[in-house]
Amino acid sequence: MDACVFCRIVAGELPASVVYEDEAIMAFKDQHPEAPVHLLVVPKKHFASLAHVEAEDAALMGHLMLKLPELAVLQGMAQGFKTRINTGRAGGQEVAHLHVHLTGRPSLK
Ligand code: 5GP
Ligand code: ZN
Repeated sequence: MDACVFCRIVAGELPASVVYEDEAIMAFKDQHPEAPVHLLVVPKKHFASLAHVEAEDAALMGHLMLKLPELAVLQGMAQGFKTRINTGRAGGQEVAHLHVHLTGRPSLK
């Protein structure tokens, strides 16, 4: 069994509130949200961290980055949003599967 919790969510083995999915990435709600909107956006391919991404993964990472503002708009955050990637123990990374925190609050309009 795969020990990586986000690989298990991607595989449908663990429940998550999935808000977006395509062939390469998935976005789901953080289980302990620190903002009204708090998504985790992950590549389906396992990378232990951003420091483990190679040049051959540039297209995948570009796809993920371009999807962030689209997801923000879908979450009502057309006025702005925050993104964060924690990398490594000293960087505060707790789950060893690359993920982008997408946080903010929906605007009233
Ligand atoms: P990190 O500190 O690694 O950047 O952030 C890990 C994030 O993953 C935390 O915000 C934590 O709440 C979230 N998280 C950890 N395990 C799970 C899980 O099983 N499901 C969901 N939805 N979020 C998780
Ligand atoms: Zn993984």
